[in-house]
Amino acid sequence: MSKKQKKMLTRVIISAILLIALHFIPVNGVIKSILYLIDYLIIGYDILIKAFKGIKNGRVFDENFLMAIATLGVFGMAIYEKSDDLVEAVAVMLFYQIGELFQSYAVGKSRRNISELMDIRPDYANIEKEGKLEKVDPDEVEIGSVIIVQPGEKVPIDGIVIEGSSSLNTSALTGESLPRDVKVDDEIISGSINMTGVLKIKTTKDFGESTVSKILELVENASSNKSKSEEFISKFARVYTPAVCYSALALAVLPPLVRIFLLGQPADFLVWIYRALTFLVISCPCALVISIPLSFFAGIGGASKEGVLIKGSNYLETLSKANIVVFDKTGTLTKGVFEVSGIHHSELEDAKLLEYAAHAECASSHPISKSILSAYGKEVDRSRVTNIEEISGHGVIAEVDGKKIAAGNSKLMEKLSIEYNPCSSVGTIIHLAIDGVYSGHIVISDVVKTNSKKAIAELKNCGVKKTVMLTGDASKVALKVAEELGLDEVRSELLPADKVTEVEKLISEKKDDEKLVFVGDGINDAPVLTRADIGIAMGAMGSDAAIEAADVVLMDDDPLKISKAIKISRKCIKIVYENIVFALAIKAGCLLLGALGYANMWAAIFADVGVMIIAILNAIRALRVKNL
Ligand code: ADP
Ligand code: MG
Repeated sequence: MSKKQKKMLTRVIISAILLIALHFIPVNGVIKSILYLIDYLIIGYDILIKAFKGIKNGRVFDENFLMAIATLGVFGMAIYEKSDDLVEAVAVMLFYQIGELFQSYAVGKSRRNISELMDIRPDYANIEKEGKLEKVDPDEVEIGSVIIVQPGEKVPIDGIVIEGSSSLNTSALTGESLPRDVKVDDEIISGSINMTGVLKIKTTKDFGESTVSKILELVENASSNKSKSEEFISKFARVYTPAVCYSALALAVLPPLVRIFLLGQPADFLVWIYRALTFLVISCPCALVISIPLSFFAGIGGASKEGVLIKGSNYLETLSKANIVVFDKTGTLTKGVFEVSGIHHSELEDAKLLEYAAHAECASSHPISKSILSAYGKEVDRSRVTNIEEISGHGVIAEVDGKKIAAGNSKLMEKLSIEYNPCSSVGTIIHLAIDGVYSGHIVISDVVKTNSKKAIAELKNCGVKKTVMLTGDASKVALKVAEELGLDEVRSELLPADKVTEVEKLISEKKDDEKLVFVGDGINDAPVLTRADIGIAMGAMGSDAAIEAADVVLMDDDPLKISKAIKISRKCIKIVYENIVFALAIKAGCLLLGALGYANMWAAIFADVGVMIIAILNAIRALRVKNL
């Protein structure tokens, strides 16, 4: 509990004790009234101040104003009736404040859940200087520096292990509770916690570009992307509160006038004023105003604990309507770690061919390039390579030892008008040409991720109508993967621009309230991520561009998290609707009873605080997504 909340709790307790004591203390008349007034001020002074400030700043109609007018009104009536029993006004204020306290506690709690994620923010990085460890601001560490992470410390910056081995706890990032073992040459991402050994890490990124900074940025900005329901509620409150105030005024004035002038009865002003004040208390819109954003907040928080980062409640809302899921192949459904399974029709020695390929590929970040480099296994001498050009969806062209090397698919060969030998193996084929002369091809094959098949099945289970795979790879490979995974449709040999066209076609074919999700690793597909209704990027292996272009990021690249994200969003939206309907129904009912004189101020405050507490408890359910 925060200091402010503790102070509030103290005020609530003092005021409650005083209220009960006053019931038994044998004082009467003015003294009793003054004691009640003191109690009222103890519990409600801040509301009065806020209401006054609101009026001064021209923002008159808020819940502080409603409460201030209602309680002061009840006070005024009691004094007018020369009653010294002022329990009601004090009690209404007291219950209202209890509700507020509860709400601030609940909001604080779910915020803390998100800031547990914020807990991944590293405070320092260790640098070795003259044999001693020195703590420095991670912001000051340059790329390529060596940092040291001891057991129990957070990895502050992305990098590669150059000494030591250890297990990392990545649960704050990915929701994965099994520790990950790392050794020399493994890439590690910031935000994970080093558990066992001392690691020396060579940084590969600036702190600002590191995973941990990216994630924090995402989470911090998430609340500024408002969903339609949230916008609806804040617009609603802006109209609703003044409307209620004017209705209350009408309720206080019109019926008495009708009684006097049309019915010839006594006006009964006090009865109607009391009803109008009750009306004000009932109509307080806090339950909605608080619980809707809280539900989204909790939903996004729950998702991030599972390693699914959702960049805003608008995306959460759209995701809940996901109906078509389109996948990229390499790196998304497959591991993107190719193995060289053959070198064919080579005019050169196989090793030489691989050497040229590896050198030509040395600057590419495509999974194919990484695989060829690791198959080559030796250090690449970058000084031998010049004029590198990567043509997305085709391959690369570069000069190695002064020879013009082209490495890529059949499209690249056709583009360069080089005749090539087609390959009969099922696999991704990298053709190689040296100085415009075909010199053979490398067959590489990729494996599907362990969870891909289950991921597709789960999507079907949760009502996704169509699953499609779009790939730049050869159709033979594409068909094999699609069949193995049970995808509905597949389009192959697409250039990045063709993927956008395909997605646009799919979008135009579907109904308006059906949403299309594209899932990719962002290598060659950032434009599609942006074009889809929802773009989901693979966070661990994906490129920075993808993480930026995407609306949702899967921290551990597990395709099974896609259906999980959809389920989380549906649960959250369901809670939001439950709260809207529940709160409005109860309010409407109470307002009617209040206007007819069946509900007094006590019932009103119970309805208000009760609805709010139930709505908040319901909203917090959105955090619980572990077993969805
Ligand atoms: P996917 O849709 O499967 O993710 P991409 O659009 O990234 O595939 O690439 C499509 C095809 O283009 C690859 O299958 C490969 O044939 C070729 N290609 C792309 N980049 C490279 C590269 N760096 N080296 C060789 N071939 C490449
Ligand atoms: Mg790709």
